[in-house]
Amino acid sequence: MELKGKVALVTGASRGIGRAVALELARAGAAVAVNYAASEAAAQEVVREIKTLGVEALAVKFDVAEVEAVAQGIEEIEKALGPVDILVNNAGLTRDALLMRLKEEDWDRVLSVNLKGTFLVTKAVIPGMLKRRWGRIINISSVVAFSGNPGQTNYAASKAGLVGFSRSLALEVARRGVTVNVVAPGFIETDMTAALSEKARDALLSQVPMGRAGTPEEVAHAVAFLASEKASYITGAVLHVNGGLW
Ligand code: NAP
Repeated sequence: MELKGKVALVTGASRGIGRAVALELARAGAAVAVNYAASEAAAQEVVREIKTLGVEALAVKFDVAEVEAVAQGIEEIEKALGPVDILVNNAGLTRDALLMRLKEEDWDRVLSVNLKGTFLVTKAVIPGMLKRRWGRIINISSVVAFSGNPGQTNYAASKAGLVGFSRSLALEVARRGVTVNVVAPGFIETDMTAALSEKARDALLSQVPMGRAGTPEEVAHAVAFLASEKASYITGAVLHVNGGLW
């Protein structure tokens, strides 16, 4: 129960990687705010599971790309659980198309949720972390930020943007007890990858040196490590969780 007494906010925690991260942080003792955009029932189920572990949890609905909604959501969390010590910016989406066919609205939406959302939520919680001189910010990027992927110029740009954002913020807050790191997953079994055609899936899997997809729990373990005291001298780093995929 190393994180007992800490409060974590995991954005996009109703499903997939975010859900696994929320449960892993709760297993370490942190009270967890489970953010979601639409999946109310799934988010409440995650909260129920966390409470069975004997720690506090709260489902909080807000779109990470909406500044007012973010402010209200953070207020709700602080009232119910206390100030946020650990922030995992995980909420993300894809709107794939080759550049020639990529619509401006799909560029804007992916950048708004994946990149601007991280900026907005981080900006809302970081003053408290700096004041208390302790904080952990973990941003979920992707292997495609480094490898590129046809059909994902918008998504790869957003995920590469998170790396520059994290490295810069890590420098800004390094002396104040707040670490900022990135976890870059490869091909992980979630709803996001279930949407791929069997052909695209097989093609991707054939490139993974370990010969299999990763699980959300395998990503969650990396996040929980970076959130822990054991990672106290790690900041501005990128932890790749990808089975050797590049
Ligand atoms: P997922 O199964 O599609 O789940 C996405 C989560 O994000 C859901 O909880 C969803 O909430 C939430 N979300 C989406 N838009 C949101 C918004 N505007 N505001 C708040 N929450 C929002 O995705 P995943 O595969 O677990 O991916 C999680 C993160 O890992 C993403 O950032 C993704 O880019 C990254 N990643 C995934 C993989 C992979 O192979 N799966 C690989 C690399 C990186 P609702 O349920 O309410 O819609």
